[in-house]
Amino acid sequence: MPINVVWFKRDLRIRDHAPLFEAAKEKDPLILLYLVEPERLAQPDTDPTHIEWELDCATELDKNLETIGGSLHIVYSNVIDCLSKINDEYRINKIFSHQETGTSWSYERDRRVKEWCNEEGVPWKEFPSNGVIRGLMNRDHWKGLRDKRMLKSPIPPPDSIESIPALEVKPTIDSMGLTPRKLTQRPIPGENAALETLDSFLNSRGESYRWRMSSPAEASHHCSRLSPYFSTGCLSIRSALWKTNQRKAALGESNIGKKSKSSWVKSLSSFQSRLAWHCHFIQKLEQEPTLDSIAMNVDLDSRMHREFDENIFHAWATGNTGWPFFDACMRQLISTGWINFRMRAMIMSVSSYTLWLPWRDSGLHLARLFLDYEPGIHWSQVGMQSGTTGINSIRAYSIHKQGLDHDPNGDFIKSWVPSLKNVPTEFIHQPWKMPLVTQNESGCVIGRDYPSPMLDESKSRREGVARAYSARRNEKSRETSKKVYEKHGSRKNRRRRKPIRTDDTLQTKLF
Ligand SMILES: Cc1cc2nc3c(=O)[nH]c(=O)nc-3n(C[C@H](O)[C@H](O)[C@H](O)COP(=O)(O)OP(=O)(O)OC[C@H]3O[C@@H](n4cnc5c(N)ncnc54)[C@H](O)[C@@H]3O)c2cc1C
Repeated sequence: MPINVVWFKRDLRIRDHAPLFEAAKEKDPLILLYLVEPERLAQPDTDPTHIEWELDCATELDKNLETIGGSLHIVYSNVIDCLSKINDEYRINKIFSHQETGTSWSYERDRRVKEWCNEEGVPWKEFPSNGVIRGLMNRDHWKGLRDKRMLKSPIPPPDSIESIPALEVKPTIDSMGLTPRKLTQRPIPGENAALETLDSFLNSRGESYRWRMSSPAEASHHCSRLSPYFSTGCLSIRSALWKTNQRKAALGESNIGKKSKSSWVKSLSSFQSRLAWHCHFIQKLEQEPTLDSIAMNVDLDSRMHREFDENIFHAWATGNTGWPFFDACMRQLISTGWINFRMRAMIMSVSSYTLWLPWRDSGLHLARLFLDYEPGIHWSQVGMQSGTTGINSIRAYSIHKQGLDHDPNGDFIKSWVPSLKNVPTEFIHQPWKMPLVTQNESGCVIGRDYPSPMLDESKSRREGVARAYSARRNEKSRETSKKVYEKHGSRKNRRRRKPIRTDDTLQTKLF
């Protein structure tokens, strides 16, 4: 019996889903397929926590599909094995899916699927994902193409579909032998929860987003918190933009006060910019799928000679550096799977400049910690924050400054580092400066209850910055930076943009 396959990947939704919509128009019944691929489980950036989250989102997708007559086959198998089996049992007429932008692993897998399709004579209809444009060699036309796609209305879910019922037995975390981290404050999985989260952001939480996104204590509530839904595709970027535009239009008509209206409009504009960044960063991996293993500016990277030190890495990775604000951020991330942008940037910059650790080890660790791990955003940001693109200014964050700016009284620190909870406010950012008597009184003896700072933060950071500049002062690195810019640099403000400078006169931004 001929059937069509809809292969769900990181697009676990029924709304704005072109492959599902188009497949539903065909006369053949559908097999709706979601795979947990053993090959993927073996990748160093995959964490069981990601798989648990995706499975839960897939289960929610199954429920939504049921409302329109569908049934999701959740299968533990590599894709070609699974397609071959389906093709033997039925006959696959066509495969429908979204294009996926991933690291070398999924890129190679998709090439093999294409070969299999050619050999078996099965057409594979791939549809673009969000604002990523396949086949571009540089950024000259990307923005126009992306904006044009985003202006189209989201595609509605199909009214009904005819699908082959799925088997009762589905893989579980236990049956696959996985042990995910138990996250606190884990979001509710699935498309419906994603829409509710967007709704609460657009109608209540988001008013002061622009001003509160940088403080880790406030960002948890005032940021959209949509990233785990975008990374599993429970929500499309276009749907989010569409609803944001509707909300902006409604604000224009509403009679809320002038101040509140202005805050809302500014915050929603900032949010829209970030939705554009989402696509902008993933486009980089689309054009260069090796970003998880080879730096954009490979000459610059090799001249840095960063060194892996097991003890230093461990202290950084577990939030035991002895720098309270840093440790609080890392511990929030480990516990919840989420931290805001500025703190992610600080965490990566501390690894790269202050501790001089290689970016790939730190990048992999963070990839596994983030519930919202999105390879395109992640590896592009890791490259930027570790100074290995050569086209971005060096951003070396001071933990002390960030702590004073965003947690002056240390409340955030105390909520994530319990051993510091009775430390007086004047010492909370530098507890090692407490006199011994105060250490005893506060029940926090440095070196016993909380680690001594691993290094002189300010000195090490400055040394790291100096080494990074020294690596940039090289003709070959500069030449490569120019090529990186041509291929990946944002063209948005080209007319206003100063010529790209790849020399050591670039200013270090003090964060
Ligand atoms: C080293 C590093 C690694 C990162 N890794 C990831 C990752 O794996 N997955 C991920 O989704 N984000 C990543 N980010 C970007 C950013 O920190 C998160 O998108 C954001 O914190 C998610 O929270 P939110 O959804 O509440 O964001 P909001 O501020 O509400 O933003 C809405 C959406 O816009 C997009 N967005 C926001 N900031 C950025 C940005 N700087 N670059 C690209 N897109 C952005 C995201 O899709 C986000 O969900 C990383 C940042 C850094 C510095």
